[in-house]
Amino acid sequence: TRPFLRSLSSSSSDETEYYDFDYYVIGGGSGGIASARRAATYGAKVAVAEYGRMGGTCVNVGCVPKKVMWNAASIAETIHDMSHYGFSGADEVTFDWNFLKQARDKYVARLNGIYDRNLENSKVTKHLGKASLAGPHTVKVEPTDGSEPQTYTAKHILIAVGGQPVFPKGEGVKEYSISSDGFFELEDLPRKAVVVGAGYIAVELAGVLQALGTDTKLVVRKEMALRSFDDMLRDTLDEEMQRQGIEIFRNTNGVAKIEANADGLKTVYLNNGEKIEGADVVLMAPGRIPKTESLNLDSVGVERNEKGHIKVNEYSETTAEGIYALGDVIGNIELTPMAIAAGRRLSDRLFGGPEYANAKVSYDLVPTVVFSHPTIGTIGLSEADAIAKYGADNVKVYKSKFANLYYGPFQVDPDDKPKTAMKLVCAGPEELVVGLHVIGSGADEMLQGFGIALKMGATKADFDATVAIHPTAAEEFVTMF
Ligand code: FAD
Ligand code: NDP
Repeated sequence: TRPFLRSLSSSSSDETEYYDFDYYVIGGGSGGIASARRAATYGAKVAVAEYGRMGGTCVNVGCVPKKVMWNAASIAETIHDMSHYGFSGADEVTFDWNFLKQARDKYVARLNGIYDRNLENSKVTKHLGKASLAGPHTVKVEPTDGSEPQTYTAKHILIAVGGQPVFPKGEGVKEYSISSDGFFELEDLPRKAVVVGAGYIAVELAGVLQALGTDTKLVVRKEMALRSFDDMLRDTLDEEMQRQGIEIFRNTNGVAKIEANADGLKTVYLNNGEKIEGADVVLMAPGRIPKTESLNLDSVGVERNEKGHIKVNEYSETTAEGIYALGDVIGNIELTPMAIAAGRRLSDRLFGGPEYANAKVSYDLVPTVVFSHPTIGTIGLSEADAIAKYGADNVKVYKSKFANLYYGPFQVDPDDKPKTAMKLVCAGPEELVVGLHVIGSGADEMLQGFGIALKMGATKADFDATVAIHPTAAEEFVTMF
């Protein structure tokens, strides 16, 4: 429990009499729920409006169901590897996508219930409906049950409405393709899938499909996926995806059109003249856009940038007084823990009293994992970005590439063993670690602790002074020279 620093209902009676709520949160996703509950711990009178299922993108069509599918893919990989450890019978193992989907859906429904109850336990009022801004300090909610719209006033209003998938332009594209949302509705394992995109979602879902047995094609506009990531991560993932059998269509400039035949099988025509035939699923993952269209932002003076994301300052304040925004809708690090941290810091500042008067979240050195196969863990600057920032003479890079001990007993050509690759990017004479990158099994669980080290300003000497844990892959980070 957090210190109860200020009771708005007793200490600011004028305000609470004037406003229906101290804090009105639009969007019951990662950022909105975290912020609402934190505000309530300080005694604020809080409401959350949500028109979908509680928990938002992460719980319903993002991190959670994605990680379940990633786990299934990891099991498939283990089964594939098992003969190297003396187990037999891999050929007899079957996989039932529909069974997993039902189990996953039940798990997500359970989480929806937990989010609901957590709000109730925190004494946060829930309004099930679509909210928009109806004036300064005023929110209008159109209830999902079709009842009369309601208007509420609040001293502070938070916009945490998240984002949604986009479909690129092109004949038949919207009609014959699905987004990541559609991926989670698939009832059966696709036989052949075309995944279009070059970011987190494209490589994660392509990896899942290929590992579970779908003949998977990845279509990228340029040379490779994950272009903004460190080149070691990008190149190693590219090699590993091909090793797994994913066929990559490069320099395509995107999709021109999609046609479907009488059996529902699709032909995907690419802008470079190539085509891919016979796909039962075409999955579009070219990015996401903020969900701001029906919020009525202009009427209250909330400005957006050229990409449509809400403009905010370092305190999550929009251009309109008393209105805040955070999470995917601001387009700055679109990750669940980022939205949660921003939401909590904002509530600390608004309701936590003088101790938190300057509370704000840091968008620097945020660790992130791509649940590709194998996983990627990355924090801080890529080598290229570090050189651009500090100059080549002031950057020193330590690298390592090896086959994980797991592959030791495999009776295969060493070149055919999947690789783990690691890089430390250091700056200045003190060799401050400004970037840490890893791709390989276990990278996902490896990164959090190193995230703390970088946040604390660790140097290469600090890494060297740390005794290794053997035998692990992570130990390589403290033994590089
Ligand atoms: P959201 O969680 O999207 O919540 C916004 C909520 O607002 C939604 O529930 C929506 O229904 C509601 N809403 C919108 N408009 C209104 C309105 N007008 N009135 C009422 N309610 C409204 N991040 C990670 O950190 N790790 C991962 O592994 C990861 N995997 C992902 C996988 C996929 C496929 C996707 C799509 C995303 C993934 N993300 C992951 C990103 C993560 O889901 C988002 O960064 C996070 O959910 C953003 O939180 P948010 O609160 O900003 O928005
Ligand atoms: P991203 O922004 O990560 O990547 C989309 C990429 O698709 C672009 O960078 C672009 O790369 C490519 N692209 C854009 N337009 C087209 C087009 N018309 N045709 C083909 N390719 C195109 O978006 P995602 O949708 O993958 O994910 C959204 C965000 O959600 C992520 O940035 C991340 O923050 C979050 N997320 C986090 C996850 C995690 O934490 N593990 C997992 C999933 C999502 P290029 O310019 O090279 O073509």
